[in-house]
This record gives sequence, C-alpha cells and structure tokens, in this order.
Amino acid sequence: MTALAGDRLPPPLAEGDRLTVDDLALRVRVSGRRKRFALTVETDAGLTLHAPEGRPAAEAEEFVRAHRAWLVAKRGLRERTRPLNPTKRLVEGEVFRYLGRTYRLALVADPPAGGKVNLIAGRLVMDREQAGSPAGGRAALVDWYCRAGRAWAGRRLQPWAARMAVPEPDLEVRDLGRRWGTYRPGDGDSSVGRMSLGWPLFQLPMHLVDYVVAHELAHTRVLGHGADFWRLLRSALPEYEERRSELDELGRRMWMGEMS
Ligand SMILES: [Zn+2]
Repeated sequence: MTALAGDRLPPPLAEGDRLTVDDLALRVRVSGRRKRFALTVETDAGLTLHAPEGRPAAEAEEFVRAHRAWLVAKRGLRERTRPLNPTKRLVEGEVFRYLGRTYRLALVADPPAGGKVNLIAGRLVMDREQAGSPAGGRAALVDWYCRAGRAWAGRRLQPWAARMAVPEPDLEVRDLGRRWGTYRPGDGDSSVGRMSLGWPLFQLPMHLVDYVVAHELAHTRVLGHGADFWRLLRSALPEYEERRSELDELGRRMWMGEMS
C-alpha cells in the first residue's frame, strides 16, 4: 500500500528511540535482519524492544501491550536477582570478607614474610607498595583468596566425601568468572576428577561454601542437575534448597574482583 500525497504518516521507529507504553519505558533497537518485534529484559531490569526496519510506533505499542504481563513479571524477577556486586579500593580500612566475617585492609611498609597479603590479628595486611598498583594489589588479594580458600576447602572435602560415599576429587581454587564451582570428571576409570571453586566464594559464610563443596561433590556421582543429583545432595545436606537460595541472595552482593 502506498501513501497518498498529503497523508501524514508518522516516521518509523529508529535505532535508539525511546518508546513509552503506558507506564513502561523501552529502548528501541532496529535491525534490518529482523522480521518480527521482540522484547528483552536486560540484566539491569531495563526493557528493550527489538524492531524490524520501517515499522511505525503504533504497531510497536500494540505489541508491547499484548506482552505486558510477561514484561512486568520478567522485570520483577530481574530486579530481585540483579547483581549488586560492589567495587573495592586499595585504601587503608577498606572492608573485605572472608568466610562470612569482615576484615579491614591495613597497608604496611614492612609486611611480614610469607605472601603479599596476610590475615593477621583480624586485619588483612598488605604491603603498601603493592597497593600502589591497583592491578598488582588486586592480583595479590585474589592470590590470597585462592591460597586461603584452597587450604580451608581442602579440609572440608574429606568429611563431605565420606558422608556422601564418593571419591575425593582434586581441588583447585581460581577465577571462574561468575560461577562458584565446577566439576570435571577424570578421564579413564582410575583417575579422579577435578573440583574447581571460584575464589569469591570464600567471602561467603562457611555453611554456603559447604553447600558448594557438597554440590560439586555430588557431581562426582551424577553429572547434570537431574532428579538423581538433587536426591544425592539432599541425602547429605537436607537443607540444600535454603542454602542454595541464600547463596543466590548473598552471592549477588559479593565482591567479584572489580576495582574502583
Ligand atoms: Zn551443579
């Protein structure tokens, strides 16, 4: 259909437009490859309308209204689970968590031997020179979490493995991005698998670290998250569901290594 001369067609939606439909504010993304409208709720709970080229706003509004219930529900979920991870600074008194307790950073000129970071008398002591470079200071802290976490979790592995009657895997603590833990089976039937735990996990209280240790240990018997997996985990840790939601809730407030 062609517009007749004199018709005043509204301009089509353009990339970067803001669209307001009732009380919903959406950002507009336009793509020539797209054939239909689509909606996404971003991790920060922002709303995006994806539109094909050359479509009028009225059509988009109708589409948004038809999917209003889904958008509102999804946005609510995003708001409740949105990451709230703090950033840290390498300054005297900055607070760091370890196994659920808080420790203040102390920058000293003459650090005790044995590591660039140490937990001494309730303070996290760091070489002042180290703190001069944010990247180096961050690396020293991450390294400390890895070493301290490895030592702590190493002692928890045996009792949990015994309780679950599963073999003890190798253990490493390192950067796993946003994951708390992973398990990789060994190759061949004689070799043991490997459990990896993410260093930020060790900021959490012990019972939540235990949850992740037990969770990954259950994977030594059952890979994936089917009914068998949860049955095995429940037999070792009956309150695993509470711990899992506590981990989700507290976990999104932990420091993941961002510096400011
Ligand atoms: Zn799992």
